[in-house]
Amino acid sequence: MLGAMMDTQLDLAMLRSRVDRFYRGAEIVTATEGGLVRSTYGDVLDRAARLAHALEAMGIGPGDPVATMCWNTQAHLEAYLAVPSMGAVLHTLNFRLPPEHIVGIVKSAADRVILVDASVAPVIKGIRDRLTSVERVIVIPDDYEALLASAPGAPYPWPELDERQAAAMCFTSGTTGEPKGVVYSHRSTMLHAMSLLHADTFAVSRTDVILPVVPMFHVNAWGFPYAALLTGARLVMPGPFLQPTALANLIETERVTLAAGVPTIWLGLVEELDTNPRDTSSLRCIPCGGSAIPEQLMRDFDRVVGEGVLVHAWGMTETSPIATVAVADMREPDAAERLRLRLRQGTPLIGIEIRLWGLDGIEAPWDGEAIGEIEVRGPWVAKNYFGGHDAERFEGGWFRTGDVATGYPDGSFQIVDRTKDVIKSGGEWISSVELEGVILEHPAVRESAVVARPDPKWSERPVSFVVLRPGATLTIETLRAWLEPKLPRWWLPDDLVIVEEIPKTGTGKIDKKELRANDPGR
Ligand code: AMP
Repeated sequence: MLGAMMDTQLDLAMLRSRVDRFYRGAEIVTATEGGLVRSTYGDVLDRAARLAHALEAMGIGPGDPVATMCWNTQAHLEAYLAVPSMGAVLHTLNFRLPPEHIVGIVKSAADRVILVDASVAPVIKGIRDRLTSVERVIVIPDDYEALLASAPGAPYPWPELDERQAAAMCFTSGTTGEPKGVVYSHRSTMLHAMSLLHADTFAVSRTDVILPVVPMFHVNAWGFPYAALLTGARLVMPGPFLQPTALANLIETERVTLAAGVPTIWLGLVEELDTNPRDTSSLRCIPCGGSAIPEQLMRDFDRVVGEGVLVHAWGMTETSPIATVAVADMREPDAAERLRLRLRQGTPLIGIEIRLWGLDGIEAPWDGEAIGEIEVRGPWVAKNYFGGHDAERFEGGWFRTGDVATGYPDGSFQIVDRTKDVIKSGGEWISSVELEGVILEHPAVRESAVVARPDPKWSERPVSFVVLRPGATLTIETLRAWLEPKLPRWWLPDDLVIVEEIPKTGTGKIDKKELRANDPGR
């Protein structure tokens, strides 16, 4: 017997109608060259309607991809609302990717229109003649404002949508091969955004002031723009001003309660706050992921901002992205244990399931020792890539993530590496991530990365790349001596390479492919 309840659709209409009914007065603040610009969700909704009219006049209809290449701004939020709501597909582009990747991605998605911020428009200009599917490039603010001004001010007749229709798409950064597209549905987008509201996730509510530092072109800024619109929380958009000073100022003056971003951002912020203290007492939750939070950063953050504020989360483009979270459990009396638990990647959000598949081909036990590749499933996990690439990663209804982890009896897990980055030495595994974290605790080290170097005897051996703190010195001998009491002997790196900068991918992660290619000892 089927249940007898209404199948109302989980689409962006539920979000639009809430904004229209309850949150027209909620504030959105955007940092611009000329200072902070203040506006309201009502204005965002009205301007989104104008944008939809204008796109429709250009021939954009259901299923058509509309690309954005923008910072976190009010205009970008308007596109987030307008494009999926009209049944078209929002395709966020990352301007930090190599131009040839952008050409490939635009071609593959067959984007017809691109909305681009003036400050990054040169990226498009340089490749414009190769973007053959693109009929129109709209530069923000000039073209965009002219377009909205000439569009009808009447409400837009938003179509009724099937919740399974595509809402947005995002390509993975392609550091491990061809960029692959993930297509989010309205349903997955709404379920994911609602899951951020759960008390045991980030407890996003109307009383929050949200600063999404993670770019809106990186997995929809982890869903925070939609979570903000769903709840009527205040949004503070940093635009291109992501320097630690600018962020610290915004947090203090706008009384930010929740800010989301990758560890590198918070590393910079903590250094800034250490030298130039600000009032950060408004902060209650900083979702942080994209790469593992180094222990030193967690300790520094706890000291400078407050224990439990920095919250570790894990996910990927393919998981919308938030899949697990490690919210602090302050009932744990032992401070060292609290820290240990928060440094793990946490437990799955309601609706997400995780299992570990041993590298030997059998399911790994959650015993705190065995390691296995994370497989994940749930209503906001991709069931295939756009165009059907890598179908084997989705076989059996689980997505094979390529992340390797150890599971614990309490259901939490800790990532030890990517399958491609784990170092195989003498038949044993060395976690490059863990080794990086320990090296980062050395007082001379500002940034740390570890990769495998082929070795005739051991198969692979770890090599440490570091950026030193100003004026500091380090040798492989002093590093090894310092590491020796902390790690198994065979984990100690064979070589040390001091660099000016650790190469990063377009999404700000350590580019291990590049590091391996530039290893002088290879
Ligand atoms: P992306 O699809 O670009 O968001 O990259 C996803 C990948 O980032 C994951 O597969 C992990 O390897 C890594 N990642 C994300 N969050 C974390 C985390 N909290 N700890 C360690 N690695 C992470």
